[in-house]
Amino acid sequence: MHTKTVAQLAQGLQQKEFSSVELTQCFLERIDALDPFYNSFISVNPSAALAAAATADEQLTRNNAGPLTGIPIAHKDIFCTSGMRTSCGSRMLDNFVPPYDATVIRNFGTAGAVILGKTNMDEFAMGSSNENSYYGPVNNPWDTSLVPGGSSGGSAAAVAAMLAPAATGTDTGGSIRQPGAFCGITGLKPTYGRVSRLGMVAFASSLDQAGPLARSAEDCAILLGAMAGYDKLDSTSSELPCPNYRATLGDSLEGLRIGLPREFFGDGLDPATGVAIDAALKELEALGASLVEVSLPHSKLTIPTYYIIAPAEASTNLSRFDGVRYGHRCVEPKDLHDLYTRTREEGFGDEVKRRILVGTYALSAGYYDAYYKKAQQVRRLIRQDYLDCFEQVDIIAGPTTPGPAFALGEKSNDPLAMYLEDVYTLAVNLAGLPGMSIPVGFVQDKPVGLQLIGQHFGEARLLNVAHRYQQTTDWHLAHPAMPKGE
Ligand code: GLN
Repeated sequence: MHTKTVAQLAQGLQQKEFSSVELTQCFLERIDALDPFYNSFISVNPSAALAAAATADEQLTRNNAGPLTGIPIAHKDIFCTSGMRTSCGSRMLDNFVPPYDATVIRNFGTAGAVILGKTNMDEFAMGSSNENSYYGPVNNPWDTSLVPGGSSGGSAAAVAAMLAPAATGTDTGGSIRQPGAFCGITGLKPTYGRVSRLGMVAFASSLDQAGPLARSAEDCAILLGAMAGYDKLDSTSSELPCPNYRATLGDSLEGLRIGLPREFFGDGLDPATGVAIDAALKELEALGASLVEVSLPHSKLTIPTYYIIAPAEASTNLSRFDGVRYGHRCVEPKDLHDLYTRTREEGFGDEVKRRILVGTYALSAGYYDAYYKKAQQVRRLIRQDYLDCFEQVDIIAGPTTPGPAFALGEKSNDPLAMYLEDVYTLAVNLAGLPGMSIPVGFVQDKPVGLQLIGQHFGEARLLNVAHRYQQTTDWHLAHPAMPKGE
């Protein structure tokens, strides 16, 4: 059961080959036996999961089931889950049990899905390796000495290790696509505003967006169908109706124009990764697409721009964690000032503190115009580069990451080297565009991801391209060897 896609599992449930309780039990047992090797989950609540599965089974018996009824899904521990701890990978929220569900969680509940557990992540979603979690790093299922990518590393590892059929993640600068690439699975970051951010712990509010991580583009289409849509409680969520993402999966790629940004294929791209990317592009060409060279002239500015804007927004968002209302509180504070400083000193890890410092500096009077305002102006230019490209092409493609997964510890003491990992993903968030990563091969047994970037609200097109590719190739079906030779 554990090797099946969500689409296959839904069929199995509807044809009564197995029940949701059996399916959920199967994944709970796998988590129990195998997660000690990966550390991909922070919280699992077997009795709640099995109770939800039993309810789904009743619905299945009544034959009014949808494609997610009874499917266990793992959720990044950034989504508020009513009555279930939501830590965001931080000591600050280690004791936080939300009184309500995030809209994403509620939408999955309405679709009949089962909450399998909450996955490990970089603290407050800040990181590219999942080494910044208060709960310890996650190990990549393809090789446990490697990072799984971040910040949705727990979700990506759980799906790759087949501890969950699919998972949710969030992507502020690459955190769905990069771990998807490092773990050899399919991930989609939707257009900014496509999925509600209500109840998703905020990192950088103008960039954050939730999306699915799964084994196939078809599964991503199924999950996105449940997640996406207008939410009157999120003023940045879009009222544009959602298409049926599954309906167009099979469309022909004949005549599709794919833009290849010159800046994505030059220095900095690992040559062996480049070979795998080129082979994938050839495959898309064989499916009818044409490849067109394009240029994104402001690409060099994306890392500095992102690493001003994201920390600036983080510094304001994280000011709410002060020990007063919820979360960690230091013991026996002398006075209010001591309460704030000691609570924040104890509750936040190093990377989070670094971002708060950088962001507060960039927003302070006297520096605001030089840093934050300038970064916002450059952000507009970066976005315009993409809009100009989309005058010539339908989608943009390139590598998701400069190379395959790196070793645990290799970059954890070098923040700049870590930030460079995000070079191909950040601009997509700055421009508010949708982006996907799909597995397209291996470099020394490590998965490589192809990034597909779409026009605003062009998720259906991205899913269609990815699905057609996956129909003629089988990289997405490769599984890592399980520990103990299972
Ligand atoms: N790696 C980037 C960062 O550390 C992106 C993180 C994310 O997308 N949440 O900010």
